[in-house]
Amino acid sequence: MPKKYHINSKVTPLNLDYVFKFNIERGENCINCGKCTKVCIYEAHKRRKDDPRKMADPNTVVCRNCFRCIQECPRGALEKSLDKDFLNIGGSYWKSDIFITLWKQAEDGKVPVTGAGYRGPFTGSGFDGMWTDMSEIVRPTRDGIHGREYINTSVELGRKLNHLTFDEKGKLLSKVHDTVDIPIPIIFDLPPDNLSPNVKAALVKAAVELNTCIVLPAGDIASDRKKYIKNIIPLISHKEIDKHQGLIKNTRIVAIEYADELLSNFPAAKDKIKKISNALTIIRIPATKSVETIVSKLTQNGAEIIHIVADYRGREVNGSTDYNRRLLKDIIRAVHLKLIDDRIRDEVTIIASGGIAMAEHVPKAMICGADLTAVDLPLLIALGARLYEEPEKLLIIPEGLEKIPVRTLTQRIINLMGAWHSQLLEVMGAMGIREARRLRGESGRAIFFEEIDNDTFGKLFKKRETVNV
Ligand code: SF4
Ligand code: SF4
Repeated sequence: MPKKYHINSKVTPLNLDYVFKFNIERGENCINCGKCTKVCIYEAHKRRKDDPRKMADPNTVVCRNCFRCIQECPRGALEKSLDKDFLNIGGSYWKSDIFITLWKQAEDGKVPVTGAGYRGPFTGSGFDGMWTDMSEIVRPTRDGIHGREYINTSVELGRKLNHLTFDEKGKLLSKVHDTVDIPIPIIFDLPPDNLSPNVKAALVKAAVELNTCIVLPAGDIASDRKKYIKNIIPLISHKEIDKHQGLIKNTRIVAIEYADELLSNFPAAKDKIKKISNALTIIRIPATKSVETIVSKLTQNGAEIIHIVADYRGREVNGSTDYNRRLLKDIIRAVHLKLIDDRIRDEVTIIASGGIAMAEHVPKAMICGADLTAVDLPLLIALGARLYEEPEKLLIIPEGLEKIPVRTLTQRIINLMGAWHSQLLEVMGAMGIREARRLRGESGRAIFFEEIDNDTFGKLFKKRETVNV
């Protein structure tokens, strides 16, 4: 049995202001009795260091909203109110709670709990309308997922064989394709180019320490990063293969931007790369309306890995309005089913990205049919970035981030991935799945809200439509 993959999380606060959900204010009528210090297990209330007779200002960042201090204060001196920043951040996809969750995960690498429990809706659009089958949650060994029980979260990138062929003496005739193994079904995707050098360095180092990969524009791979080239996926145009021979020679995977001519030219581009090295090739393709047809054609033409990129809110990239753009969940399902129909699903690895915002999106994307996912914005939110959807996408990198040591930033990204890895283990343990690669396309083990909604009420509404017509 291979060694267990473990992510070493370490509490790593970032001393920058960040959004929090509630403001807690201590009123004038506080008698400094200290009861709130005892009832808050998250240590939001402490006495002042310089004068322990008095209370320090509450630390709202660690508050988990259980309301116990409010209830137990003998003077009713504590008040909670929703923070204005919290109400404004994000938008309809990147809901404000996601920021608090990612920040907390980056802080300590743990799965966050909320003292007040979950009080939101139980369905929504996209991944929110998808529930995973947790029927194995009662297995007696379930609590062993971080201990004795072995759950393998690694995935293989590359083309797999549909079947093996042997000659009459039993000698293997089939050519086994090259593959690259990574221990988590997550790679890091293209960071924005306006990041400070310490943030860029931290993203690369975190990818190296986690033993995953990061996609970087080839022109952005400075000479000091070349020592990490095994964990870097240079992104190039298919016309620049000669120009980047040096990178291709040393890397394990190279990504090329999709262009229509690749539909017929891809074998030539792949051959050119293979003459330089054994690097695998990813074709990076925008999630357009006809993406499943393009993916199928590219696969029939020898594509081994295809990266489908939706917009930052997990929608198709070329629809006129949000309403007629498919969501990532549906895009992945359409691609997966098309490849199955064409009997070529195992010939290609599918990476899905765009709108991967929370830990649960990783197994859900895989259940829909992706082999693995690529994340971008959550890595920056872990470092304090704020994102606003309205009136248009705006990503704000916090002031002062450029002065934070690379080690601190690296550890926060590792913590985030540690928390996501733990949640992946929880989901797989609860589903009774031991191999992450077996999650792919396990849609029979998930419930899709719109399907049961349609099964239950579809006929009713169809009838109504007929009557109206
Ligand atoms: S419990 Fe209330 S009165 Fe006592 S220290 Fe806390 S805020 Fe002040
Ligand atoms: S609401 Fe709960 S978690 Fe928040 S400060 Fe009060 S006791 Fe602590």
